[in-house]
Parts: sequence; C-alpha cells; structure tokens
Amino acid sequence: MVKPIIGITPDFNPGNREDMGGKEPTYFLRARYLQAVQDAGGVPMVLPLVRGLTQQEFLLQRLDGLLVTGSGSDLAPELYGERQRYPFQRMSEERAQLELGLSKLAFRHALPTLGICGGMQSMNVALGGTLIQDIPSQLATKIQHRPKKSATKTAHLIHIEPSSLLRRIAKRSSIAVNSSHHQSVKSVPSSFQATAVAPDGVIEAIEASTHPFWLGVQWHPEYLYRQDAIQKRIFFALIKAAKQFAARRT
Ligand code: MN
Repeated sequence: MVKPIIGITPDFNPGNREDMGGKEPTYFLRARYLQAVQDAGGVPMVLPLVRGLTQQEFLLQRLDGLLVTGSGSDLAPELYGERQRYPFQRMSEERAQLELGLSKLAFRHALPTLGICGGMQSMNVALGGTLIQDIPSQLATKIQHRPKKSATKTAHLIHIEPSSLLRRIAKRSSIAVNSSHHQSVKSVPSSFQATAVAPDGVIEAIEASTHPFWLGVQWHPEYLYRQDAIQKRIFFALIKAAKQFAARRT
C-alpha cells in the first residue's frame, strides 16, 4: 500500500535568533507534527524553504497533503495591510513566503491542507484574510488563549458550526481544546468560512466548503491526539483526504 506524502512547513532561523542556532541559518520543527502524521498513516516530509510560486509548485506536485505548522513568531502585519501595533517577534521572511505561497497553491489545486495555530493564520492571510495582532490588547475577554500550562491540557471550549468539515470529524457541537496563541483570525476571505469559535468569539477554525479538505485550527491537536480520539480523527481525516487526492491524480 502506498502511503500519502504530507509536506510539513518548518520553522526557520535566518541567523538572528539566539534560541535556535544563533547566526547559523537553521531549520527547526517540533517532532510532534511529524509523529502525528506518521501515527495517522502518512509519510511526513519536512519541506525546504524554496522561493517563488514556480519553485513552490514543483514541490507541491510531489505532495498528497500539506500541514502548515504553528510558530512562536507571527506574520508581518504588512502582509494583511496593517502596521505592527504591538511588540511580537516577526516570522522570518523565508518561512512566511513559503507558507503563504504553498497555501495559495494548495487552495488552487485542491490539495488537502491542515493548518495548525500560526499555520491556520497563514492559510487565512494567503487568500486575503486578516488577523487580530494581539488578543489581550484588542479584545475584552476573560479567556486566556495563552495560559501558562502545558499544551497537553485543554484550556477552553469551542463551538463548532453544523454542516462543517470539523463537525463531521468531531461529531460534537462543542469540544474542549488547548490554546497557545496571542493572535487569531480577524476576517476570513470570501471563499472561507469560520466554523468554530471560542465562547468569547475568537475564531478557532476556518474552512473552505468548495475545497475537498481545507481546515485550519487555532489550537494544537498534535499535543492532544494521543489522549483525545476527536483530535486524533483530525489527522486521520487529513490522511484519508490525501489518499483520495493521490487516487484522483493517478
Ligand atoms: Mn484559543
């Protein structure tokens, strides 16, 4: 049996981050992302940071699915038409252009795509959406979306829209999720739908109903799937869609 290849976006230090390789340009990525894909029956493939849509398309042609990962750093707000209003570390340009380019192409080519946390935000910005730059500064909420506890623990509930992909996966109208973000989706492109929200209105999932599998989640299922069958089904659903994509192509 041929297993589907899932491309995974890495994080990158271009040479200005003391915490990840110092001056030496360095790729890095939490192993959990690869493990979750592997445990769901896919072959994880960490992607190189290639520039330009043409080169990125060569890469995409080899993939059956895409996982856009989370990140400690944030997209430059200029990418969605704003100036930076709060202090946060900006994502390297190398990583940002790969995530935005691949998201655009994956949307266009109907490639099954799962975005996690910052990855969901990249999917949104790639197609013209905007972000809340800093939840605690911009939104009056009692929910801590970046609590000081392990991401293996759930932090708040989300409500899931009926007849959404996420609802079909979760089979529940509301679930508990972990939370490790200070930004979130503000507006979605006209081709997307926000399909889950936290009780304070923060958007926790985005989809595109015209796409066979286009799901961004604001939480981190890779920290929960070992103990939570619903979170595990998110990865199984990605792999299933990737297999179907591969079958259609050949
Ligand atoms: Mn949250």
